Amino acid sequence: MQFVTFQANGKTDIGILSADSKAVIPLQAAERFYYKSATLPGTMQELIEQGDAAMDMVRKIIAKLDGACPKVPLSDVQLLAPIPRPRKNIFCVGKNYVEHALEFEKTTDVNLAVPKVPVIFTKPPTCVVGPGAIVKNHKHATSQLDYEVELAVVIGKTAFRVAKENAYDYVFGYTIMNDVSARDLQKLHAQWVMGKAADTFAPLGPCITHKSGIPDPHNLYIKTSINGELRQNANTKQMVFDIPTLIATLSSVITLEPGDIIATGTPSGVGVGFNPPQFMNFGDEMRLEIEKIGVLVNTIEK
Ligand code: MG
Repeated sequence: MQFVTFQANGKTDIGILSADSKAVIPLQAAERFYYKSATLPGTMQELIEQGDAAMDMVRKIIAKLDGACPKVPLSDVQLLAPIPRPRKNIFCVGKNYVEHALEFEKTTDVNLAVPKVPVIFTKPPTCVVGPGAIVKNHKHATSQLDYEVELAVVIGKTAFRVAKENAYDYVFGYTIMNDVSARDLQKLHAQWVMGKAADTFAPLGPCITHKSGIPDPHNLYIKTSINGELRQNANTKQMVFDIPTLIATLSSVITLEPGDIIATGTPSGVGVGFNPPQFMNFGDEMRLEIEKIGVLVNTIEK
């Protein structure tokens, strides 16, 4: 099950991707068509909050799918971020892949570069944009724009003081986030907020793959190409702190709620890791891909 938020004919709606990924099946229309009922909501946030009841109805719809089902070709819709405006800041994890920690700290000393506990920062909801959206260049403030492909976990149930062994019970699914970064601001302000939280710095999407479609989130290829050139090419098995550890850590003092997002860090191959660094230029295309989720493409403002 791959959930999308989309716009068609000026209306924002949610749906699931068809089995061939060529069409969107609007959930409310499909429920009306097969069951003459109206229990499913019209936003992803509400769908996640409805929990098991919503998922039961979605499964019932999928069981009925046939050629008569209402659907819209993917080419006729504009995909939005699956949660276009998260209710709170996106939780992010810094230096969560060994090779990236080394390139970021410009050292070969693993003990020096790799954190002993998760490094957590956040990006506000105003960072979020969808597939295809322009990422602002903020040229008045930065000349060191960088990309970071990240597996992002979407929380499904209220979670407080969750034990690692129960962590996946609180996951709804997974999406892709581009942790766009202004390296000069990240350095200048010591804390990472200014370099990470600028408007449009969190492209999100293209869909949320339900956790039932990703039994092992720690065995997915994860890649970035810039203007067609492969830059990041890794596997989520290389994370330092795994998803249960991140959920246990965050929820030890913060109540996680349905629709909250945790971006799990980026592998090596970011622009600042090259010698000399390869920061992005105006108009550059960032193509991020994670297995079983899809491709998220965004372009830097010209
Ligand atoms: Mg990051």
